[in-house]
Amino acid sequence: AAPVLSGSHLDPGGPTTTPAPVRALFPALRQNVNGKPLVYLDNAASTQKPRAVIDALVRYYEADNANVHRGAHALSDRATAAYEKARETARRFLNARRTEEIVFVRGATEAINLVAQTFGRQHVGPGDEVLVTEMEHHANLVPWQQLCREQGARLVVAPITDKGELKLDVLESLITPRTKFVAVSHVSNALGTVNPIKRVIEAAHRRGVPVLIDGAQAAPHVPIDVQELGCDFYVFSGHKVYGPMGIGVLYGRLDVLESMPPWQHGGDMVDTVGFDATTFSGPPYRFEAGTPNVSGAVGLAAALEFLEGVGRRAAADHEATLLDLAVRRLSEIPGVRLVGEPGHRAGVVSFAVDDPPMSPLDVSARLDAEGIAVRAGNHCCQPLMGRLGVSGTVRASFAIYNDAADVERLAAAVRSIVGEAE
Ligand code: PLP
Repeated sequence: AAPVLSGSHLDPGGPTTTPAPVRALFPALRQNVNGKPLVYLDNAASTQKPRAVIDALVRYYEADNANVHRGAHALSDRATAAYEKARETARRFLNARRTEEIVFVRGATEAINLVAQTFGRQHVGPGDEVLVTEMEHHANLVPWQQLCREQGARLVVAPITDKGELKLDVLESLITPRTKFVAVSHVSNALGTVNPIKRVIEAAHRRGVPVLIDGAQAAPHVPIDVQELGCDFYVFSGHKVYGPMGIGVLYGRLDVLESMPPWQHGGDMVDTVGFDATTFSGPPYRFEAGTPNVSGAVGLAAALEFLEGVGRRAAADHEATLLDLAVRRLSEIPGVRLVGEPGHRAGVVSFAVDDPPMSPLDVSARLDAEGIAVRAGNHCCQPLMGRLGVSGTVRASFAIYNDAADVERLAAAVRSIVGEAE
């Protein structure tokens, strides 16, 4: 059976305290849905929040709430300190060199749009190419597609195998002198594939091409070191890593961020303003126009600290064990077909019910009736679904609070759905 992560080290009670499983630290998981204890397996869409994150948000609003960077009173100072401390926590989480490299955004989508519309517009022109892959989420596809349309450039799509893995040699051959940017996901949200991004980054950099890594599905599952990776940009969303919605991180290497124009204009991102001309702050403030999501940043920092407290390696090992079990159990069920069989996966297993044929939506509705939350559909990956010849899949996705009993409940429910409809 998969180990249940112990949360005892998060508990100041010390070694004599009975270890509480991590699950107990997430209030939303303590509920029945449709009369059954909730099994939450929709974590790739959004994770539940630990008590530590909820408390941090409440504490912030009860004690420190004020606008930041105005500095004229105690609450503003405290809010500013909390916001900048959160930036330091995010820096540590990614092992970025400096806090200036951490830009707070709404989420991965906003981060990618920011890069496409600043760096992209600067560097991609008529006849140029932007390289993405067949497995990208719409968030890492549409912004590049629209940039290419706007600039008269071409979007080039690196193919994947039927198992859902990148064809690395083909990808490398598609990086040509016309290629001005490469945007690749670290982990596929639809198939769970962990991509060899270090090799992608090295291949692109050998040809002088900058790289953005979409880490939305990696941040909750895979330890990340942007210095070791050497990427130019790395993005992730807070809500997928146990933090609040509406906050995320754009990491950009400082020299790259310094070379970029602002995206949105307004307060907080300027140095001097006149009616004729304005000068802009340096990174990260240049990219954070207007009042930022301070509570979101505070909540995100609490989430990242929580994950560090659990241990990112321990979390990854725990989830890998669960995922192995889920893959095994689902493959044993007659009529169920796994969609995507990557050799290295994280967080996600996608499947279809072929016999008797059943739509993903139908399967997910029946699972919901059993208190089991999964996602059905194209997972914001319509081109990928087309490539794999399916309209959608049922997706079960895992987090640190899931355990082997969750996997067994899922497998038993799928088994009975398949049997029921025979
Ligand atoms: N990239 C990937 C791989 C994702 O899975 C998602 C969300 O599902 C996103 C980007 C977009 O994240 P958000 O909607 O939080 O901006």
